[in-house]
Amino acid sequence: MCKGLLQEDAVIIGRLNCDEFAMGGSNETSYFGAAKNAANPELVPGGSSGGSAVAVQADMCLAALGTDTGGSVRQPAAFCGQIGLKPTYGRISRYGVIAYASSFDQVGPITSSVEDAALLLQVLAGADENDSTVSPLAVPDYPSLLENKEKQKIAVLKETIESDALDPEIKSAILKSIEALKADGHTVEYVSFDLLDYLVPAYYILTTAEASSNLSRYDGVHYGHRNTEAKSLTELYKLSRAEGFGEEVKRRILLGTFVLSAGYYDAYYQKAQQVRRLIREKMDSLFMDYDLVLSPVAPTPAFKIGDHVQDALVMYMADIFTVLPSLSGNPAIALPLGNNSEGLPLSIQFTAKHFEEDKLLAFSQAFLLS
Ligand code: GLN
Repeated sequence: MCKGLLQEDAVIIGRLNCDEFAMGGSNETSYFGAAKNAANPELVPGGSSGGSAVAVQADMCLAALGTDTGGSVRQPAAFCGQIGLKPTYGRISRYGVIAYASSFDQVGPITSSVEDAALLLQVLAGADENDSTVSPLAVPDYPSLLENKEKQKIAVLKETIESDALDPEIKSAILKSIEALKADGHTVEYVSFDLLDYLVPAYYILTTAEASSNLSRYDGVHYGHRNTEAKSLTELYKLSRAEGFGEEVKRRILLGTFVLSAGYYDAYYQKAQQVRRLIREKMDSLFMDYDLVLSPVAPTPAFKIGDHVQDALVMYMADIFTVLPSLSGNPAIALPLGNNSEGLPLSIQFTAKHFEEDKLLAFSQAFLLS
């Protein structure tokens, strides 16, 4: 994944904190402890790629990479006032990335300008003999296409804006943007998205199922931590896995094993696959009529370290708006939308048709400059 960057002589200056196995939305499940938000050190930077976002926010580097399975590039970018791009599934090679949920995982840049996001995507995208899921589609010259000032037809997902979970200041900032977009000549229309309640359950069934399979290789023999006291092979597996994984990762392995187990497979895993297909079809049909889809990124701005860490369900529900493009595979971007009354960054999300990152980036550039 970094091959292109090195070939272009990028200077890689370090590795950044993230939630363990990229499972989390606040950086608090990191083995190394939580990174802090540079806007206020009592707050989380988001997750899982929280270290990446805060490093760009604090101007420690020009750009950072993260992986985005259900929002891990976009949500920390939002919490830290940066730009976070999740490309189309299959645009960038996953070679070298530790797999969380292989049919969702995608590398993405976190930057403070759209130019930098375009440049990084340009360098990272494209076929790779080491990852057969990467698209062979030619990579457009994203930076040179940023000048495109075409007016877009934008669908606002009504249920996301009307959601009770949405913070009022985020809502009013988004409503203001909608008016500004209209004044700028874009067509903006509200559309109904009746699958909103199914997004988080489908995401957490499918990703934990994939994670339980991907992480089975961490058995102390092939990969990962190895216990040194075990007296038998079974004991070695048990102790290595019990010691080597944190609580959240264990929770997900157990959940994933459960939804894949005989007797529950049809009720959970297969059902969630069917729901994923409906979500994909719904998005495809929206993109027959619209260029872009508008929604929030996260329901709230950055929250306090420690506030939600004991309640997995609250954490999971906070992914409600970011998991949609992850389930459908569409490219999506989180863009900064000023600060709230407490000086915390707010954000807005735009999603495009598969492989239309060029349109998404050009629109983002115009949006931020207007
Ligand atoms: N917060 C989401 C999760 O915990 C997203 C994580 C990610 O994209 N890696 O699964």
